[in-house]
Amino acid sequence: AVVVHLGMSGQILVDEPGAADQRHLRLRLPVTAADGSARELRFVDQRIFGGWWLDALRPDDAAGGERIPTTAAHIALDPLHPLFDPLAVHARLARRRSTLKRALLDQSLVSGIGNIYADEALWGARLHPERPTERMRRADTLRLMAAVQDVMRRALEVGGTSFDALYVNVDGRSGYFARSLAAYGRTGQPCRRCAAEGVDSRIVREPFMNRASHLCPRCQPRPRRRRAVAADA
Ligand SMILES: [Zn+2]
Repeated sequence: AVVVHLGMSGQILVDEPGAADQRHLRLRLPVTAADGSARELRFVDQRIFGGWWLDALRPDDAAGGERIPTTAAHIALDPLHPLFDPLAVHARLARRRSTLKRALLDQSLVSGIGNIYADEALWGARLHPERPTERMRRADTLRLMAAVQDVMRRALEVGGTSFDALYVNVDGRSGYFARSLAAYGRTGQPCRRCAAEGVDSRIVREPFMNRASHLCPRCQPRPRRRRAVAADA
């Protein structure tokens, strides 16, 4: 079985057995590390939106027979998985009648992308969040998937997208990725890419579902509207 973290909040920490309890410690699970040493998995949740789920593992064809949790079977491979196939993503994307950011956040298309990574990757690939998916060219998707991978790698290197003390990595340290964000949360600040070209273009915030998108209106131009189907009147 495997522990799956569910919910909107909380952190899984790896700790020494007998280490002092964290504030808001909810669960403690003794485990044996790969090197045979004793460790504790701990679940710390200041809010109460998170939880753990014990799940069975089963082999998954899309992941090359790798065993994954049963509850995750419908979730697509994440872009850093060795078998991740950006061309397959493109084929699925092109079949959708949706808009780009909405599709990016759909875990059945590609997994692991939330609001922050989506905004950062779209900025990196110079694509507007409202671009119709059927208008994505292969080169657009490949550029976007490369941008997603780049954002994820940078985030992993520094321990996640932390904005506050609530978000920590498995060692309990805060992440410092927020400082390197190019679009997300930078409303009104200069776009760094445009600034490098000597142009003053400011990041704007646009409503997106119940949240917001952050983008540069100059290097991520809004797509022209779909041509309306002519009414046969
Ligand atoms: Zn720009």
